Amino acid sequence: MTEIIDGNAVAERIRSDLQDSIETLADEGVTPGLATVLMSDDPASETYVSMKQRDCEEVGINGIHVELDPDAPAQELYDTIDDLNADPEVHGILVQMPVVEQVDKRRVLRSVDPEKDVDGFHPENVGRLVAGNALYKPCTPHGIQKLLESADVETEGAEAVVVGRSDIVGKPMANLLVQKTPLGNATTTVCHSRTKDLEAHTSEADIVIAAAGVPEFITGDMLKEGAAVIDVGINRVDADNDKGYELIGDVEYDSAKEKAGAITPVPGGVGPMTRAMLLYNTVKAAGRQEDVSVELP
Ligand code: NDP
Repeated sequence: MTEIIDGNAVAERIRSDLQDSIETLADEGVTPGLATVLMSDDPASETYVSMKQRDCEEVGINGIHVELDPDAPAQELYDTIDDLNADPEVHGILVQMPVVEQVDKRRVLRSVDPEKDVDGFHPENVGRLVAGNALYKPCTPHGIQKLLESADVETEGAEAVVVGRSDIVGKPMANLLVQKTPLGNATTTVCHSRTKDLEAHTSEADIVIAAAGVPEFITGDMLKEGAAVIDVGINRVDADNDKGYELIGDVEYDSAKEKAGAITPVPGGVGPMTRAMLLYNTVKAAGRQEDVSVELP
């Protein structure tokens, strides 16, 4: 029987467990603060940011939203980041990607104070992650670890294949899976667009993490019987419904479900976890910066 890993339920449990830490902080007069910065008129980015702000409100995190004119000079964004770095009410800063073309993305990543870098993308935090002592694990791969844990998927000694090598998903995911930790210790292979025979890798894997952004390109016949399949992909495809589109993953769900031991759906798998882990990192950041010891789920 294939286990459908319910990302909404796991995310809800994490949000609920975070309440204790938020109360501990409140007892010390601290409200965790998360600043989101949007400099884009991309509707998807606007939606992501508003969802993150709504999540903050629901759990009692102070959400501070800064919206900049997408046509403004890049310096406005750099100055905004400096101001937020200096603001004691802000414990976490998230600059919504992708940034507009006049902005130097690398400068943005470098500018956020590493202590407030709840995305975990500052070069210092990337280095810490690789070294095995991350301040903040990037939200999507961290959420995936929690999903694997929730489904009792053993990573230790497992053959894991990560499809995709982006800085936000593939690379940090692979780095977490190889760490000498309980949710790591996997023998990890990273595949990408230049991989010669993808199926040769996926068909031997106990865990497949699909993060390529290619609709339904991992099919059941590419999987090993009983594999755990985590579908990170969010692909918008035309559909005959009110919205005119639907969201589908990188995995062909129906055929993969026949083969997999456990699988995440899209939507309702990885997406809610990415959001929950942002709240987690913000609470952790508040505890660190305010010197309050908080228990994290
Ligand atoms: P990127 O486009 O930055 O990276 C895609 C990666 O997939 C690249 O490394 C690319 O290889 C590789 N790739 C592309 N096509 C193939 C192929 N045919 N075979 C093997 N590898 C391939 O994407 P992201 O990592 O940012 O995102 C991946 C997907 O996950 C997207 O659908 C995105 O929307 C989704 N996403 C979902 C999140 C969530 O919370 N659920 C969060 C973040 C992303 P190469 O390096 O050689 O180009």
